[in-house]
Amino acid sequence: MQYVPFGKLGFDISRLGLGCMRLPMTEQDGQKAVDVPRAIALIRAAIDGGVTYIDTAYPYHGGESENIVGQALRDGYRERVRLATKLPVWKVETRADMDKLLDEQLKKLQVSHVDFYLLHALSRQRWEKVKALGALEFLDSAVKDGRIRYPSFSFHDEYDVFEDIMNGYDWCMAQIQYNYLDINHQAGDRGIALARKRGVPLVIMEPLRGGALAKPSADIQAIMDAYPEKHSPVDWAFRFVGNEEQVATILSGMSNEEQLDDNLRIFEDVRVGALSESDKKLIADLREAYRRRMPIGCTGCEYCLPCPKGVAIPRNFRTYNEFNMFDKLAEFPRRYQDFVRDSAEAGRCVKCGACEKQCPQHLRIRDWLQTVHKAGTADT
Ligand code: SF4
Ligand code: SF4
Repeated sequence: MQYVPFGKLGFDISRLGLGCMRLPMTEQDGQKAVDVPRAIALIRAAIDGGVTYIDTAYPYHGGESENIVGQALRDGYRERVRLATKLPVWKVETRADMDKLLDEQLKKLQVSHVDFYLLHALSRQRWEKVKALGALEFLDSAVKDGRIRYPSFSFHDEYDVFEDIMNGYDWCMAQIQYNYLDINHQAGDRGIALARKRGVPLVIMEPLRGGALAKPSADIQAIMDAYPEKHSPVDWAFRFVGNEEQVATILSGMSNEEQLDDNLRIFEDVRVGALSESDKKLIADLREAYRRRMPIGCTGCEYCLPCPKGVAIPRNFRTYNEFNMFDKLAEFPRRYQDFVRDSAEAGRCVKCGACEKQCPQHLRIRDWLQTVHKAGTADT
């Protein structure tokens, strides 16, 4: 296992972190539930294998994850790790809710304090809401009374929101989605540069893009096979993220012993600055190959917005592209319903053409929206 200093916090951390949101499951009478003894054994095996960062959150496994992590960390395991959990900001309506939720979490985890306490999945809207409710003062006071050590946040929104949040508090850590496809998405490379400038260490989630980078299509696998240095798709994805100095720990949600063993093997050699120029070129080629599988050449620049009918043009395009990229178009209609719920679906377009005048890529936005709508309503 490789270890790096956790920014300037004064201790080292394993580069592999265990995310406890996909614990081993069991099925009884058609009912799925976490296989608790196996989950506890898996968490302990990860720690015995050198993992020193354990990540959970209030909603994982319907609220069970924190309980199970609490059980796993008994018998001396708690002292061997840094423990992270998160405030479910969407459940917070008052300042008092924050204290209540944290106390409930400490009880479930059977600990007197957590190391990292994150405002969970901040977006513009959630950030503004919890800030107004006193979340920053809450973090300060929870540090002071010893219930948490390092106030942090996890993030899912666009870069400018990341910048606002980073500038809004003296954070000890930020957890972002990052992988070799997402260098210009959400916080992305610009987010990493900002974290570097501000000296905020990063924890990375979705290094495999929800597992998608682990199972590349045949054409993409062929690019890896042709490269002289042989590594698995998972290996390359971790090596890419781990190359970055600002990245402390990389989370992996492991569901079985085989994944754990595989990850422990890979993280023997996930080092800062280890990628050669030709490795980087390989990863750029892989990225390009994934991009070629995206039918719509939208860059997400948003010059086309706002649409008078509320169509979220780039978001519709990006989602449609991704379902194409990973050969999952049959599952697209279900996701399309999210857009319908937000009144932002492609089908709202009335073909006024205003957006196309603004598009630097000269995309036939109206035609593509029709294509997206057709795919999104294919089963309905
Ligand atoms: S053409 Fe459609 S998507 Fe574009 S601005 Fe008009 S209504 Fe919106
Ligand atoms: S202006 Fe064109 S490239 Fe930019 S987000 Fe809109 S559709 Fe995509």
